[in-house]
Amino acid sequence: MSRKAIIVGGGLGGLSCAIGLATAGFDVTVLEKEKTLGGKLKRVEASGYRFDRGPSTITMLHAFRRVFERAGRRMEDYIQTYELEPRTRNLFADGTKVDLSRDRGWMQQQIAAYSPEDAARYPAFLEEARRIYGLADGRFLNRLMLSMREKADPALLRDFMRVRPNTTLRTLLARYFSHPYTLAMFGRYATYVGASPLQAPAIFAMLAHVEADLGIYGVYGGTYQLVESMARLARELGVHILTDAEVLSIKVRSGRAYGVETTEGAIEADEVICNGDLLTTARLVPDRLRKRPAAERLDRYEPSLSGFVLLAGVRQRYESLLHHTVFFPERLESEFEDIFTRRVAPEDPALYICNSGYSEADTAPEGGSSLFILANAPYLSEAWNWKEQRENYANKLIVMLDRRGISGLNKAEVLQTYTPSDLQRDTYAHRGAIYGISSNSMRQTFFRPGNRDREIDGLWYVGGTAHPGGGTPLVTMSGQLVAERIASLKGGDASSRIRAGSVE
Ligand SMILES: Cc1cc2nc3c(=O)[nH]c(=O)nc-3n(C[C@H](O)[C@H](O)[C@H](O)COP(=O)(O)OP(=O)(O)OC[C@H]3O[C@@H](n4cnc5c(N)ncnc54)[C@H](O)[C@@H]3O)c2cc1C
Repeated sequence: MSRKAIIVGGGLGGLSCAIGLATAGFDVTVLEKEKTLGGKLKRVEASGYRFDRGPSTITMLHAFRRVFERAGRRMEDYIQTYELEPRTRNLFADGTKVDLSRDRGWMQQQIAAYSPEDAARYPAFLEEARRIYGLADGRFLNRLMLSMREKADPALLRDFMRVRPNTTLRTLLARYFSHPYTLAMFGRYATYVGASPLQAPAIFAMLAHVEADLGIYGVYGGTYQLVESMARLARELGVHILTDAEVLSIKVRSGRAYGVETTEGAIEADEVICNGDLLTTARLVPDRLRKRPAAERLDRYEPSLSGFVLLAGVRQRYESLLHHTVFFPERLESEFEDIFTRRVAPEDPALYICNSGYSEADTAPEGGSSLFILANAPYLSEAWNWKEQRENYANKLIVMLDRRGISGLNKAEVLQTYTPSDLQRDTYAHRGAIYGISSNSMRQTFFRPGNRDREIDGLWYVGGTAHPGGGTPLVTMSGQLVAERIASLKGGDASSRIRAGSVE
């Protein structure tokens, strides 16, 4: 008889795990509390405008391809992707423009327009980014670190030191660049993992290589196609997907998870895998069944940053926008002090716009644009009240963009806001954080909460808060890695054998 697995949540991590387990012969059920799958990635349609609310910058395409290939399918039979070149347009307050590109010579020309010194050092920086990515990909991203033996692997420890764990991204960037524009442009990669460039470790310089050399991709039909294609594959493999089904608690007997209590009744399984934010779902095990309350450990983590989203459907085209465009403010990086220290929505945020119509005409009615506008925001705390500030802040962003030439948003045919409170309500993201925990320190970057519960056997975690981290490719990888690990175990009390270090 097949072993049974329950997955709590139908985000990308959960779907990827479901596919991996179903491929290995498990009887898999995905339980999603919302009416639709996708978690932080949602499709929004209104008055002929279509938006992907959530991730739009898709990198490391191989992470998605692997999900299909390991199930014996070709990704191209499920989704069509295209590479964006140039990648992202960076616009500074004085009109300086840098279009990130695979073409190093062109990149140097653009940077040289404001800093010949930085331009000269760009190739060396990219080389460093490539080196760091190689180490991360080889040692950290593609493996779980559960047993003591895995964690103490001498090769891992050697390479850990080679990614400069004690150096911040800012310090590393300052070894190559001195101009504030270059520092802000490449420092922004820290926000891809919910962190501040001033605090995040240097390892995130690897994202410069990921974007420039591995590429940024679009998905025909929108990034939500990633969810739809994985859900289709999961169903083909026999996965039962139940939406509108919330898991209320995880059932534990003699220290082992054996099922869940849901709004639809109880379901039993051999393995329970939580895809909802670990900082929330780990609390689904009643405290009396743990040695110490989950909050004692989980509340010590600093949540990642969140985001304020404005969706604007406008009867206008914008020649200055590429598919991805970032408007940097005059006071560069003041936003990180606002977000992480004062915990208020930034006075002067960098504004990111995804103008998907640049690549696909049918995202808006004739002559129109569907703009996804994102400002980084703090995780939820008493310092900022979105209920009171939602409209003011939206208007502020509209005025800011109008000054930068993105006019007409006040006459938008569709205008919707989405705050960190909404994200928390819809996905149970702890404090509305996008990437689970921040990567603002060595501990939070390299010693993330593990993929296996510390105390409860048969209970696993996949998704942004767990290893290897947040962002669409990494959560997809985490689902695959956990599925492979569970499948490699021979049944019975598998987790405790890992704990003893006897599995590998
Ligand atoms: C505004 C925004 C912009 C982003 N931009 C990018 C980007 O450009 N590029 C990129 O790569 N990433 C981006 N991300 C991050 C990316 O979306 C996430 O890292 C990723 O989608 C998270 O996937 P996940 O598997 O961790 O699960 P989630 O998406 O968090 O899904 C978890 C699911 O679990 C469900 N759930 C939780 N608790 C329960 C329960 N008790 N019972 C049943 N179901 C439950 C939730 O409803 C949810 O559907 C962005 C995110 C946001 C919000």
